[in-house]
Amino acid sequence: MNDEIVPWEDARVHVSTAAFKFGTAVFEGLRGYWNEQHQQMYLFRMDAHMKRLEFSQKFMRFEKIYDAGYVTEKTIELLRANEFKATVHSMTTVFVDGFGGPTVSGPVGLAITAAARGGPGLLDKGCTAQVSSWQRVPDNAMPMRVKCNANYQNGRLAGLQAQADGYNTAIMLNARGKISEGPGMCFFMLRDGIACTPHISSDILESITRATVLELLHEAGIETQERDIDRSELAAADEAFFCGTAWEITPIVAIDRLPVGDGEVGATVRRLQERFFSVVRGESSDYPEWRTPVYSGK
Ligand code: PMP
Repeated sequence: MNDEIVPWEDARVHVSTAAFKFGTAVFEGLRGYWNEQHQQMYLFRMDAHMKRLEFSQKFMRFEKIYDAGYVTEKTIELLRANEFKATVHSMTTVFVDGFGGPTVSGPVGLAITAAARGGPGLLDKGCTAQVSSWQRVPDNAMPMRVKCNANYQNGRLAGLQAQADGYNTAIMLNARGKISEGPGMCFFMLRDGIACTPHISSDILESITRATVLELLHEAGIETQERDIDRSELAAADEAFFCGTAWEITPIVAIDRLPVGDGEVGATVRRLQERFFSVVRGESSDYPEWRTPVYSGK
């Protein structure tokens, strides 16, 4: 918290800060994957997360920018201090700690937390999704490309509606009526052997897992298309899945109560999950540039 490691209960902000009043904060969620055999934790694609964090701070015109090197150093310091030997989810929040109106841009604070945490528990059996009647906020209103805390109320409404209606989560359409993404994860579908995902001008977050999946699909020789996806195409999908730091690679087995394919988790998604976990945990030695070891001397 603001450069110091403090006990959990002492990590507080004042109720008068712009962060509390207006959601003037940006964040990153990232994972450190524990590898038992290596007795090592690997931060997944730390460079990409830190680059996006710098971009979010710049875009929101924060008075001070915490740079990638500093935040990486502090994250590693926190993980080492807690001596984690499990997969962790870490949240980095850069927030306006100053008092004032909606345009106040400083002073700027930094908070990093980490806790042992698995996925949403749907990796094996998959999830169900509702196409939401809540529209994704368009880029010229509150850009989803920027990981600003306030943006998340849009997906929250969609998520709450989906849960109230008996689904696990939502798929949101953008202002053009095309598929954008889930509340906190990106969308992929397989149709006739081609993996399709909304392109980056679809009012989505430029997801690091999405970029990873595109690379792993390419490696597997599966054709990919980044393009507009119509709502009606969802019914034509053979397989579908969500991806993101928290959701990892979660199969979607039904959308609007129509089964995706035969309603079972598809073979391509399963293979992709296996490859993904072997890479992120460092069981495969491929893509070493994606893994930052936390503990030294290993
Ligand atoms: N979309 C949104 C809105 C998100 O919050 C997230 C989670 N960061 C994602 C997609 C997935 O992004 P990433 O793979 O970088 O975690």
